[in-house]
Amino acid sequence: MDKKYSKSTFGINYPFCTESGLIPKKESRRYWTDLYFVRGKKVRVSSQWVIAHTNQFKEYLVNKGISDKTKLEDSTVSDDDTKHGQRVSTRVNSRYRGNAIGNAQNLLVRNILSNLGEESFNQEDWENTKNYFENKCAYCGSEEELVIEHAVPINKVSLGEHRLGNIIPSCKSCNSRKADKGYKEFLEGNRHRTRRIEEYMDSRNYVPLGENEQVAKILEMAYQEVAVVSKRYIEILNELFPNN
Ligand SMILES: [Zn+2]
Repeated sequence: MDKKYSKSTFGINYPFCTESGLIPKKESRRYWTDLYFVRGKKVRVSSQWVIAHTNQFKEYLVNKGISDKTKLEDSTVSDDDTKHGQRVSTRVNSRYRGNAIGNAQNLLVRNILSNLGEESFNQEDWENTKNYFENKCAYCGSEEELVIEHAVPINKVSLGEHRLGNIIPSCKSCNSRKADKGYKEFLEGNRHRTRRIEEYMDSRNYVPLGENEQVAKILEMAYQEVAVVSKRYIEILNELFPNN
C-alpha cells in the first residue's frame, strides 16, 4: 500500500494495492477490478499493472520467498497466451464467475435476504395470500396453477425479501417472464394491478428495503467475500487434481 515502495519496486506511480474504501468510485471499475481480503482489510490491486507485468510480479513473489519458482513455472502461460494476457484472464474469469462463483454469490445473497427478521412464511400464510388475490395471478388475473412469486425480486440490487407482503401468487407464465424484474417494471404502468399489490404490501406491513445503502453495502461485502472463498477452494482443488 506504500506509494514509495510501489514506485521503487515496481516502477508504478500509485500503490500496488489500496484499501477499497479509499478508491474513488469512477476509478475502481477501470483500474482496480479485483477485490481481495488481506489481513482483515478489503483491498483492490491495480489490475491493469498486474495484467501487463505478470512476469515481473511473479519474479518479485519468488525473490521474496512468497511463492516458489517451480510452482510459477508450472503455471507460466505460453508465449502466445502472454500476448493475449488480458483476453486469457477474462476467459478464465468468465468461466468461474459466470458459473460456479456467480451462482454461489447469488445464492448467498438470496439466503441472507430470505432469512432477515424473525417471522417465517408458512403454508397458512400462503393460503391467506392466495385468498387475498382471489386465487388469481396478481399480474394477469389467470386462474391457472399459482406459484410463489416475489414482487420485489430477491437480489442485491432490488433487496426483496422472502416474507409476508412480498410474496404474491403468480401464474407460471408471468413468473418466468418477470424473472429478475420488479413488479412495477413488469406491470408496465398497469396502475390497477400495481396498486393492488402495494395495498397488499401495506396490509401486511411489508416495507421494501428499497435503496437502503447500508444493506446494499453489507450484501456487496458478502457477495465479494463468497467469491474470494470460492476462488480459494477452486484453487485448492485444481492444485490437488491438476488434470480434471
Ligand atoms: Zn399471470
